[in-house]
Amino acid sequence: MFMFTHDCTACDRTQLIFPSMITGATRTDAGTQVTFECWCGAPQTAIRGGATRDDRDMVAA
Ligand SMILES: [Zn+2]
Repeated sequence: MFMFTHDCTACDRTQLIFPSMITGATRTDAGTQVTFECWCGAPQTAIRGGATRDDRDMVAA
């Protein structure tokens, strides 16, 4: 797992986000969108990673 910093949109601080705070992760074209709860309690989302691979199984809706 990983941890990262995030600029919270609610408390307007750069917070260190730990894996234990992450409540979900969804793959998107831009990377992995993770959802988590900031230290202030606000739900947040962030895009992590990015296309490090050429995914050949992209889903066309
Ligand atoms: Zn916050």
